[in-house]
Amino acid sequence: MDFDAMFDAQLNALKEEGNYRIFAELERQCGAFPRAKSHDEETPDEVTVWCSNDYLGMGQNAHIREVMKDAIDSCGTGAGGTRNISGTNNHHVALERELADLHGKEAALLFTSGYVSNWAALSTLGGRLPDAVILSDELNHASMIEGIRHSRAKKVIWKHNDPEDLDRKLAALPANAPKIVAFESVYSMDGDICPMKEIVEVAEKHGAMTYLDEVHAVGLYGPRGGGVSEREGLAHRITLIEGTLGKAYGCMGGYITGSAAMCDFVRSFASGFIFTTALPPAVAAAAKASVAYLKDSSEERHAQRDRVAYLRAQLDKQGIPHLGNASHIIPVMIKDPVKCRMLSDILMRDWGIYVQPINYPTVPKGTERLRFTPGPLHSYDDIDHLVEALSVLWKQCAIAHAVA
Ligand SMILES: *Cc1c(COP(=O)(O)O)cnc(C)c1O
Repeated sequence: MDFDAMFDAQLNALKEEGNYRIFAELERQCGAFPRAKSHDEETPDEVTVWCSNDYLGMGQNAHIREVMKDAIDSCGTGAGGTRNISGTNNHHVALERELADLHGKEAALLFTSGYVSNWAALSTLGGRLPDAVILSDELNHASMIEGIRHSRAKKVIWKHNDPEDLDRKLAALPANAPKIVAFESVYSMDGDICPMKEIVEVAEKHGAMTYLDEVHAVGLYGPRGGGVSEREGLAHRITLIEGTLGKAYGCMGGYITGSAAMCDFVRSFASGFIFTTALPPAVAAAAKASVAYLKDSSEERHAQRDRVAYLRAQLDKQGIPHLGNASHIIPVMIKDPVKCRMLSDILMRDWGIYVQPINYPTVPKGTERLRFTPGPLHSYDDIDHLVEALSVLWKQCAIAHAVA
C-alpha cells in the first residue's frame, strides 16, 4: 500500500481549495514585541505580528520572566511526573489557589493547555453524570466539541448566542436529566460577546449547570482580569469557568474553576488530567505571577482598548469594512480562501505585516478573513502602516474586480 500517495491525495485537495496551512516561521524577539524575526526567505527579516494571542505582551513582561527564571533555577526544568505520581509541585498548588481567587470560586484545577482542560472536563462531566445532556452553542471551540463527542453524552446544539433557542431546547428535555450549558464569553473568530446574563438566567430557570469558556477574555476583561463574567458581576452564578494561561497571560496551560466537589470530581476521573506529565513548575510559577500581575494592573488593558479603538477608527476612515463587535478582535472579511491567503502573503512580503489568513475549517467556507489583534505594544505608527497597506491593497483588489 502506498500510504504517502493516500496522504498526498488529501493534501492536494486541501491545496486546491486554498485551505492548505502554511506556518510562518518566526523568532519572537523579547523586548521588541510585536516585532519578530522572520525565518522565511521571501519576507523581510523583521515583521510586525498582528495576529498574536499574547494580547497584552505579557510573554515578555520583565517581572514574569524573572519569576520564571528563578523557578527554573530553584526547581529545574520539568515537573518529573504526573500530578499523581511525584509531579505536584507547590507552584501548581499556588497557581490553582490564585485561579480560584481570580474567579471567586472554591477551587481550580490545572491542565497542560486550555484545549486539554475543555476536552477533559467536558468529557468527564458529560460521561460520568448519568443521562447528562450537553447543550452546546453552535460556534463553540473545537476543544469543547471534541470533549462533548468523547463524553458520548446526548448533545443538543443551540443557535449561536440565542438564549431563546436555548430556552426552547432546555424545555424540551426531561426535567430530571442533568443538563450542561456550554458556551464562550468572547468568540475569537467574530469577536462577539455572548449575552451572558440572559444565558445564565435561562440555565438557572431549567436547573442546568453553566460551563463557560473565558479563554479569550481572562486577563483582558473585568477589573481584575477575571473575564466577562467578572465584568458583568456574574461569575458567582456560573458553575464552571474555564480559561487558558497561554493567551493574555503569556505562558501556557489551561484550567477550570468551580466548586471544590466539582474540581475534585474532574481531578479524580479525567483521563486527560491524570495520565499526563504536569506543567513545568517554572511555567506554573510564571503563570501565577502573570495572573496576579493583571489582577493589580489595568494599564495594559487600557492601552489595548485604546489601540483597538484607534485601529477601528482608521479602518473606518479608509472605508475598509470590519466586523463591528464589542471585543478586542478585529476581523476584516475577505470571503475567499485564495484571496485571503494572497492578501496575507503580500502583506508579509511587501509590508512586513504578519497576519495569518483564517480559512476553513477554523471558520465556515465563504467567511475567510484576516483577524487583527492590536495590543498595548503596537504603536500608532504601526497601526497607520497597517491601514496604509490595507487601503493600497483594497484599491488594487477593487480595480482587479472592475477589470475582471
Ligand atoms: C485557544 C482556545 C482554547 C484552547 O486553549 P489553549 O490553551 O490554546 O489550548 C480553548 N477555547 C477557545 C475558545 C480557544 O480559542
